[in-house]
Amino acid sequence: MNPRTIPEDIIQQIRERADIVETVSAYLRLNKAGQNFKGLCPFHSEKTPSFTVSPSRQMFHCFGCGTGGDIFSFVMKIDGESFASAVRQIADRVGIQVPSVGMRQERDETGQRRETLLQLNDAATEFFETSLWNSSLGKKGMEYLHARGMQEETIRTFRLGFARPSWDALAQAMRTKGWTDADLVDAGIAIPRESQEGKQRTGVYDRFRDRIIFPISDLQGRVIGFGGRVLDDTQPKYLNSPETLLFHKSRQLYAMEKARTEATRRNALMVVEGYFDVIALHQAGIRNVVATLGTALTSSHLPLIQRFSKNLKLVFDPDSAGIRAALRTAATEMLDLFAGRGISVDVVTLPDQRDPDTVVREGGAMAFDQLVDGAETLIDFVIRHSLSQATDQSIEAQVKNLDAVLAIISRTSDSYQSLYLKQIAERLGIDERVLRTQHRGASEKTSTPARHAHKMAGPPPSPQSGKAEEMLLQLIIQDKVSPEWLDDLQASEFVHRDYQELFTWAQAMPEDEHITGAKHFISFGEQNPEYESLISRLALRPLECEEHDIERAVRECVSHIRARNLDDQFSERTRQMRIAEREGRPAEDMHTQLEALRQAKSAYAQQSG
Ligand SMILES: [Zn+2]
Repeated sequence: MNPRTIPEDIIQQIRERADIVETVSAYLRLNKAGQNFKGLCPFHSEKTPSFTVSPSRQMFHCFGCGTGGDIFSFVMKIDGESFASAVRQIADRVGIQVPSVGMRQERDETGQRRETLLQLNDAATEFFETSLWNSSLGKKGMEYLHARGMQEETIRTFRLGFARPSWDALAQAMRTKGWTDADLVDAGIAIPRESQEGKQRTGVYDRFRDRIIFPISDLQGRVIGFGGRVLDDTQPKYLNSPETLLFHKSRQLYAMEKARTEATRRNALMVVEGYFDVIALHQAGIRNVVATLGTALTSSHLPLIQRFSKNLKLVFDPDSAGIRAALRTAATEMLDLFAGRGISVDVVTLPDQRDPDTVVREGGAMAFDQLVDGAETLIDFVIRHSLSQATDQSIEAQVKNLDAVLAIISRTSDSYQSLYLKQIAERLGIDERVLRTQHRGASEKTSTPARHAHKMAGPPPSPQSGKAEEMLLQLIIQDKVSPEWLDDLQASEFVHRDYQELFTWAQAMPEDEHITGAKHFISFGEQNPEYESLISRLALRPLECEEHDIERAVRECVSHIRARNLDDQFSERTRQMRIAEREGRPAEDMHTQLEALRQAKSAYAQQSG
């Protein structure tokens, strides 16, 4: 998402002219509630409306699921659009022309090429489908699909097809329809013949031969690439399109276009390992399911995922070869990146020798739902998995495993760390204190910087931990604060990075009567989508104090933040001093420092009390 492809002043114009209430009303019924409008949230299922739209601030926020933002992010989220196309869509509605910026011609050419390849992919899909449904040519493929429990309606919905056991059946058919060899190669469905031993060879041959074909679509349902599976044990079992202008396998997910609505509605997205698993689950009525395109799930999938759900459920086959090897790296990356964006990751483990396909075939959707209900968090899964491996290994291997687990744990928040340490101690029958010592070693050795970064960028703090900070920011965003009340408060005095960022941005607000706090923060949210929910919540949340009381409330918040920081410093110094004394190091000057802090604290208490 790059907002800069459309000039900032045009975006401003569109925002001025468009109305968020009108736009949202096209999708759901809104009722007036005081200054705002309320309705049933389209992003999670609810019976009483917590989805709030503010005409004055031009923002929306759901106090049920936390989804929020401005008019553009509403369209992005509900239609699954990119920022640029959301802007264009609204521009169309309000009658503003959006020019392309720079490299116009180049972009048009790429756009045309993409269009050509999309049409070719569609024609190829049709060819594969026709082959499958042909009673003699596709017999083998159709029998295979029936044996896998695929119903005819499902086969049509997913546009499954069959690539004949021929070197150039597809290429020939496409040529007669007017496509060139270059088109076929660019679309990734054909491979150029190579010259061999002085023998000049020209032309192309089909990439997919004698395989079941799974067309892979973009969010609009247009085919961008293909997966092909053999009918027997030939290797490779699965073959995917190469990277093309349209197809980027590390970023895209199979069946996302079919899963998006249900993923939003159920507020959960499941990721399974194979195409057949996705199709079998959809066939059984479980539709919030996608698969990666033969790659591991990584941070490159994040932009796509976080548009539809903040709850990710990974469905693992316990036998799958990749899982054990990938577990540690994958888990580490996910904890850092996914959790850091507020995305929760659960793991659904399937019973031995079962894949999702067999589970629903034997026990129906209910059986699968039960497994999903029993999902564990990613970190629980990692601990259980690593430790169960550890018990039947050498002492050396056990220690190594334990170190790895401890390193992972050190990336979670402090309260979780002690919980996990307790669990591991119980599981292994080790004294918790011994484990703690080792844990301190492991986290310092392996991941001090990562741990620090994660803590700073962790999930949004709970309202209690930063109540004063939130209240202050809320009052600022709602234009209730006059700068002198803040008593030179600095961003660094805020408890959490999210608050620091927002306060820094607040300080950069230009002095211009046309710029409101809401407007100023909308543009921040646009460039930092991970803050949108926090911003819209603070912008739309009702005030907890009366208008005439605001100055006092602001001053109290500032005092509270400062007093808390002094408290923190005081306890940290006390702790250091105790350690120094226990280890017999001189702690004289620490006493002095502590005394100074104690005085500052009491002076502060008198002043603010
Ligand atoms: Zn909601």
